[in-house]
Amino acid sequence: MTAPKTDPGPAPTEGPLIDTFGRVAGDLRISVIDKCNLRCTYCMPAEGLPWLGRDEILTVDEIDRLARLFHTLGAREFKITGGEPTVRRELPEIVGRVCALPNVDVSVTTNGLTLDRLAGPLREAGLNRVTVSLDSLMRHRYAEMTRRDAFAKVEAGLKAAREADFDVVKINCVVIRGTNDDEAVAFARLARDHGHDVRFIEYMPLDAEQSWERDKVVPGEEILETIAAEYPLEPVTQDAPQPATSFRFADGAPGTIGVIPSVTSPFCESCNRMRVTAEGAFRVCLFALEETDLRGPMRAGADDAELERLIREALWGKWAGHKINHPDFVRPGRSMSMIGG
Ligand code: SAM
Ligand code: SF4
Repeated sequence: MTAPKTDPGPAPTEGPLIDTFGRVAGDLRISVIDKCNLRCTYCMPAEGLPWLGRDEILTVDEIDRLARLFHTLGAREFKITGGEPTVRRELPEIVGRVCALPNVDVSVTTNGLTLDRLAGPLREAGLNRVTVSLDSLMRHRYAEMTRRDAFAKVEAGLKAAREADFDVVKINCVVIRGTNDDEAVAFARLARDHGHDVRFIEYMPLDAEQSWERDKVVPGEEILETIAAEYPLEPVTQDAPQPATSFRFADGAPGTIGVIPSVTSPFCESCNRMRVTAEGAFRVCLFALEETDLRGPMRAGADDAELERLIREALWGKWAGHKINHPDFVRPGRSMSMIGG
C-alpha cells in the first residue's frame, strides 16, 4: 500500500465517510461467517482454516447495529459475503434486516451450492441481487478448482436464482492462466443465454496457500479481446467509476460482461469500499495490513458515537492504493475467505 498523506490533521467528526485523498466510502462488505463448504484452490487450503468459534463471530444484532450505523454514515451499498454466507443459518434474517434500511442496494455473494433451497427465502427477505461465484462450466474442472464435485448443485442454484426473479444475477469468475482461461467465450454464451452479468476477476495474491504467481494472472483486457472476437462488445456507460468495466453485446443479446482488473489496472483512486470481517474487524482495503476491532468495543458497551470515531479514524488512515505491482508488496495476514471478498 502507498502511505496515507503525511500529517493530514485529525479525522473529520462529521460529514461523509472520507479519507485523506478525498475518497468517499459508501460500499460496505459484511462477512457473516468465515466457514465454507468449498475449498477453492485460489482461496483456501484443502484442510480448511482454523474456524472462528460461535462466540467470536458477530451476532445478528451486532451485524444489524453496524449496518445501521454505516447507513447513517452514508453507506448505501451492502454486500453480504463470507466465507460462504449461506452456511450461516441466520442468513435470511440478516439479509432481511439490511434490506429494510432505506435506499440501499444489497447483494449476497455465494458459491451457489445451496441456492436451490435458499433463493426463495432470500428473495422473500427483500434481496434483489445475487452474485454466484463459478469458475468453470466443466464439471471435472470445477471439481479440481473447488476440490468438491458440486457443479450440478451450482447449476441448480443458478436456475433457482433465475426462477426467484432477482433483478440481477451476476456470475463471478476468477480466471487463472493455464487452468480456466480457455472458457471466456463459454461464459459469454452463458451470459447471453440467460441474461446474466458475468464478471471476470483477476487472480489476486490472497490465497491461503500463497501459491499466487504473477504469470497466473490473466489480464482483464485479454479476456475482453477474446470475447469481442466472437461477440463484439460495446461499453455500458457508467455514472460513477466502477471497478468492473462493463460491456454489453453489440448485437443486442441480453447479459453483460465485466472485468475486475485489480492486478493489471487497480481502481484504488476511486475505491469506495469498506469491509467488516466475520469477527467484526473493520478493514479499509482488501490489502490493508492493519484493521480496527469493532466487536470488542461493541461488547464492552461503546455507544454509536464511539464506534463512529473508530470508523472515521480508520478510514482517515486509508492508503492511496495497494502495492501488488511493487517489489515491496506485503500480503495481508488474512486470506480472501477470512476477509470477505
Ligand atoms: N464464498 C462466496 C463466494 O465464493 O462467492 C463468498 C466469499 S468469496 C471469498 C468472494 C469472492 O472472492 C468470490 O467470487 C471468489 O471467487 C473471490 N476470490 C477468492 N479468492 C480470490 C483470489 N485469490 N483472487 C481473486 N478473487 C478471489
Ligand atoms: Fe469458499 Fe468462496 Fe473461498 Fe471458494 S472463494 S473457498 S467458495 S470462500
